[in-house]
Amino acid sequence: MDPFTHYMIGFALGKKMGLDIPGKKCMVLFSLLPDIDTLTILLGYDFASSFHGTVTHSLLFAILTAGTVETVYFVKHRQHLFPVVFAAISLHILLDIPQTSFMSSNLNPFYPFHPIPPQRLFPVGRTVGMAVVLALFLTALWTFLKNWKDDEGPIGLWRREKKEEESRG
Ligand SMILES: [Zn+2]
Repeated sequence: MDPFTHYMIGFALGKKMGLDIPGKKCMVLFSLLPDIDTLTILLGYDFASSFHGTVTHSLLFAILTAGTVETVYFVKHRQHLFPVVFAAISLHILLDIPQTSFMSSNLNPFYPFHPIPPQRLFPVGRTVGMAVVLALFLTALWTFLKNWKDDEGPIGLWRREKKEEESRG
């Protein structure tokens, strides 16, 4: 799935969950994180194409990352972020599933265990798979158009703290 859809569906979920600003930021950033494995392209195309979709797209990675963020963030800010980070990474994995019906993929949410063949993760056939991916993209686009001007929208979210600081100081 493309980064825009990951970001916006993450944003929509964060909004639905009624998260505060740090929670929403955390939701959109960690909705993108699993695709950091595409950077392994620096180690060569063959390595990247066999690595993408495995470690950072697993429930194990979701648990370990959420646990790490929870530990680090809670000490400083007394706010629990485990559920948000876990939800964001799990959402990314879920959103990547439909495209396995029409694109070659190594997606393995159960890494390091033996993968379920990706085509069996979403056994609906190419046409339905493509329709689902398109529907998700349109949902993302709709969410963006509906919220982009908001103070706490997908863009405003990153300006808010600055504004608050400016008005305080
Ligand atoms: Zn991905």
